[in-house]
Amino acid sequence: MSPRTYDVRTYGCQMNVHDSERIAGLLEQAGYVKATDDTQAPDVVVFNTCAVRENADNRLYGNLGHLLPAKKAHPGMQIAVGGCLAQKDRGTIVERAPWVDVVFGTHNVGALPVLLERARVEQESQVELLEALDVFPSTLPARRESAYRAWVSISVGCNNTCTFCIVPSLRGKERDRRPGDILREVQALVDDGVVEITLLGQNVNSYGAEFGQRDAFAQLLRACGDVDGLERVRFTSPHPRDFTDDVIDAMAETPNVMPSLHMPLQSGSDRVLKAMRRSYRADRYLGILDRVRAAMPDAAITTDIIVGFPGETDNDFAQTLDVVRAARFAGAFTFQYSKRPGTPAADMPDQVPGDVVAERYQRLVALVDEIAWTESKALHGATLEVLVAEGEGRKDDATHRLSGRARDNRLVHLAPCDALPGDVVTARVTYAAPHHLVADDVLSVRRRALRVDEGTAAAVPGVFVGMPSFDNRC
Ligand code: SF4
Repeated sequence: MSPRTYDVRTYGCQMNVHDSERIAGLLEQAGYVKATDDTQAPDVVVFNTCAVRENADNRLYGNLGHLLPAKKAHPGMQIAVGGCLAQKDRGTIVERAPWVDVVFGTHNVGALPVLLERARVEQESQVELLEALDVFPSTLPARRESAYRAWVSISVGCNNTCTFCIVPSLRGKERDRRPGDILREVQALVDDGVVEITLLGQNVNSYGAEFGQRDAFAQLLRACGDVDGLERVRFTSPHPRDFTDDVIDAMAETPNVMPSLHMPLQSGSDRVLKAMRRSYRADRYLGILDRVRAAMPDAAITTDIIVGFPGETDNDFAQTLDVVRAARFAGAFTFQYSKRPGTPAADMPDQVPGDVVAERYQRLVALVDEIAWTESKALHGATLEVLVAEGEGRKDDATHRLSGRARDNRLVHLAPCDALPGDVVTARVTYAAPHHLVADDVLSVRRRALRVDEGTAAAVPGVFVGMPSFDNRC
């Protein structure tokens, strides 16, 4: 009998991408195999949902509805729903979509194989959600999407209460992993051929709060610097409130920590930051950037910005534009504010009309693009080290360019050459666009040692590493 197949469909931020790697690992440990593009109907479909996005629930129920005919045509097919929306909607999911077999939450990812089996044997939907973390997800098996890049979770949950964010109520209070556990995982990944890791937490700068060590994150970065064979260390997300100079020093003094920083701004208006319950102010934010650039002149800094938060005036928005000009971002994920049910901001007065939000948004995007392009053009002629990546290039690119990330995390398209994903190509920048660079002048290729048992892993489509997906809101 051929093994049962699975497909995991992921929505939302890196936390979910990382959780999906764990879900895939758990299912493979339980004997399932990943469905291929040719699989007519996978035996198990898992939706790893996100509650941050607008209309996330409509989209989920739409997708579940689309699967119903397939489920009817394939007896034994199972559907599971996990992630933040499952944690939020709980039993409602099986009420609205009774053909769902399993609902599991953000705190009990590890229970999925057992719940699927129980649903199959009992022929009844299983809904199991925990209020607190059961097992730290990083202790679960994972099926990594990349042979040479990996996420390493250092904490889960968040102690902040940003008024636009649903994460704290769904992921709970911050829980920190012990440094020894993290470093053991990093070493095991490196032994497995990984050269780049991204340390992951909702607020990496508060790492250590749970075990009372204020400089824990800086120390962790330095310890990663001592791991032989680990070439690149990134992290996401930092928080301006907790970002301290010891982290800047650790970044600058640890050669394998990359000169890139994705630091969410959200608004340049102190009044709006206060209403968002984000306890830094614009001058503190810009002061951190100044110190980062003083220590790492080549650092590329990116951000997240929300336009049209309730009560945002023209003057508030103008202050955001001022901060964007001063910050010289290499890129920004920009969002038009829209209500997220269950968040305090959803009930605030003075919601900004949609047409006003849209108009401000256009102006912000134009400014961000202009500045990003200016920053990119300054790199024309520069020599960069590019870690070639799977899945970064344009799918419609007939020139078969390779693509990858520079040390500062800029996307770089390379001239066709014989490099493979995981190799490091040194190349000169020949063209600069607002959101990518072209480096057609390839100077050298440094091959990554391929492990014998890696098989075709390097050809598996990769996940977007190092930069947050557009739903990141920290
Ligand atoms: S936006 Fe980030 S820092 Fe703020 S509450 Fe949400 S997860 Fe925490």
